[in-house]
Amino acid sequence: MSDYAQRVLDDLKVRYAHEPEFIQAATEILTTLKPVIDKNAEKYEAAGLLERFVEPERIITFRVPWVDDAGKVQVNRGYRVQFNSAIGPYKGGLRLHPSVNQSILKFLGFEQILKNSLTGLPIGGGKGGSDFDPKGKSDNEVMRFCQSFMTELYKYIGADVDVPAGDIGVGAREVGYFYGQYKRITNLYEGVLTGKGLTWGGSLGRKQATGYGLCYLTRAMLEANGKQVAGKTVVVSGSGNVAIYAAEKITEMGGKVVAMSDSNGYIHDPNGVNLDVIKQIKEVERKRIKEYVERVDGATYTEGCRGIWTIPCQIALPCATQNELNEESAKALIANGVEAVGEGANMPSTIEATEAFQKAGVLFAPGKAANAGGVACSALEMTQNSMRLSWTMEEVDQKLQGIMVGIFNKVAEAAAEYATPGDYVAGANIAGFLKVADAMLAQGAV
Ligand code: NDP
Repeated sequence: MSDYAQRVLDDLKVRYAHEPEFIQAATEILTTLKPVIDKNAEKYEAAGLLERFVEPERIITFRVPWVDDAGKVQVNRGYRVQFNSAIGPYKGGLRLHPSVNQSILKFLGFEQILKNSLTGLPIGGGKGGSDFDPKGKSDNEVMRFCQSFMTELYKYIGADVDVPAGDIGVGAREVGYFYGQYKRITNLYEGVLTGKGLTWGGSLGRKQATGYGLCYLTRAMLEANGKQVAGKTVVVSGSGNVAIYAAEKITEMGGKVVAMSDSNGYIHDPNGVNLDVIKQIKEVERKRIKEYVERVDGATYTEGCRGIWTIPCQIALPCATQNELNEESAKALIANGVEAVGEGANMPSTIEATEAFQKAGVLFAPGKAANAGGVACSALEMTQNSMRLSWTMEEVDQKLQGIMVGIFNKVAEAAAEYATPGDYVAGANIAGFLKVADAMLAQGAV
């Protein structure tokens, strides 16, 4: 690593020693940016570019009081990390999960800057959420929480300021409650959130975009290396928004999905997972994935998540959460002949797992490139909102495909030009960074 990047990283490690996920993301990003930082070290250092790049422009934290069904007041913590607005308004999802804290949101916001840059669309990076757990709550409790959260957050967002979206625990229901409250307080009918319902400003294809986009990019990566999706066995972790639509598209492309999971365990269906059953259990009934084996013959359920990576497959799509795939899991996948890994989730592979894949010559598409389809489609939703019109599913899907193939090409080119051909981790970080760095330099010391 260049001296400059190393010094900035060392400083971060001391200052934010209590933020392990943020340090993990910063370590990967600053390490892989070495070639471009070395090349521009003097200019970047004089401009304090890296010191500014690693520090969020602003973090808003607030309390979120809400009344549960028993009439008791509950209190959660709410956050919005407005990380970088050099190339556009802050954009990034809201996560509702008990594990949410400042470290996780900073790592997600940091990655989001580069991801959004890669899409080629004018969006900056942000992320937010709360340690509220929607699981097991009634619709009314979720609504009261969302209304309380937005009663504070509305002060800091806007269609040209900061445009949140969904993430873990935030789907159409939650976006609806957030949007309703924003509109009620501000009296503005504007595209302040994406992932909206289709009758009130949402975009066709947004629900599918992250999963579909992951498959478009994974296919482009395979084809660029003389391989294909058709005929391959696929393991998809998770069974949420990203996982379900990744499984749907990869199946359409001729892959066979044999396993999926939730936070309790995984199902293995050697005949190919029946997605209608998964959708019914997870999207409609909001139940546990283990129900699957009661409805489909020949499938088995195993308690615990990591075992899913011991199932032989040629394509692995981790679509659940950060650090779900460690070095041991990577080695099991490699031993079983995995050819390609496409990260649907954000940072699902640990640094050691990523290195193991790369060392073994496995094609590896990092999340910030591979799962950028969701935010890209969100930006298309913003465009449609501004234009006051709606595109058809075909139009959106075509644009999404173009964007994902474009991202793969940019990433592959940056890898070849600055790092090692085929190192898509470095390629994604470098291609995303250069655009943001140029904008930051042009805008002066802000
Ligand atoms: P959802 O809440 O819809 O789904 C998350 C899924 O992962 C659930 O099935 C959950 O199970 C499961 N899960 C959570 N922890 C684990 C674990 N340790 N092992 C196995 N499964 C687990 O979230 P999304 O699908 O929206 O998000 C998934 C990932 O994709 C996140 O990393 C998110 O940041 C990323 N992402 C999402 C985008 C989007 O558009 N939604 C865009 C880009 C990235 P359970 O049902 O038990 O909770």
